Amino acid sequence: MNEPVFYLGAHQPHWLWTTDMPLFVSHRQLARKVTLRPAVCRWALDSGGFTELSLHGQWITTPAQYADVAHRYAEHLGVPDFLSQQDWMCEPFMVERTGLSVREHQHRTVANYLELRELAPALPWLPVLQGWALGDYLDCVDLYTSAGVELAALPRVGLGSVCRRQSTAEIGHITATLAGLGLKLHGFGVKTGGLHRYGHHLASADSMAWSYNARRLPPLPGCTGHKNCANCLTYATAWRTRLLAKLAARNQQHGQQADLFALSARQQQDAA
Ligand SMILES: [Zn+2]
Repeated sequence: MNEPVFYLGAHQPHWLWTTDMPLFVSHRQLARKVTLRPAVCRWALDSGGFTELSLHGQWITTPAQYADVAHRYAEHLGVPDFLSQQDWMCEPFMVERTGLSVREHQHRTVANYLELRELAPALPWLPVLQGWALGDYLDCVDLYTSAGVELAALPRVGLGSVCRRQSTAEIGHITATLAGLGLKLHGFGVKTGGLHRYGHHLASADSMAWSYNARRLPPLPGCTGHKNCANCLTYATAWRTRLLAKLAARNQQHGQQADLFALSARQQQDAA
């Protein structure tokens, strides 16, 4: 997966069988699906860790269970671009929720990555960098290095604990520093402001921002079946096309790589 890619966050796993847009789907949603068919789009898996840790203060799903279900997804849907590991987020409220420390969250995150890799070595596990301040993230890079994991050699590395503080200059600094180490970063749950601010330091990102926007708006003309478009593929498709066109225009303006989130000529036409 050398091409930079933007994954649309989807509540609805059945979109895997109806759209050719790259999708980011949560294990929590996908696990409810009894029947799985081959996906018709590129896709990547969210571990659902934020919800699981928020609810329980720890991982209830064991690495063995997660590896088993990951095998099932890969077998029936097709191998995803990556499967997010079971990481431990480091937002202050999350560290308070677990009663542990940032350092302990980082140790557990690295240990989980190693365990998943051992349980299912053929699957594309995504290691996640966890921390809060820049120094924490650099410490986490060192933890991976000490464990024999050379992050810069991997196709993608997740950047954790950023989705709730994207308006800060600190995130720009963190992403620039980590990208400068040669890491090909995936930004989790990036909002549109964040994409404009630090998207050029990311190799990929996912976003559910379209759904939050749509929830506050009346449905699109022609959408008579629902009272807003928070779960609407038509709305999501149009939102994504507009976003990617804006990012391409911005990157051109700033002399950055225009194809960061590669947009086909056809999509640019549609957005114009
Ligand atoms: Zn709609």
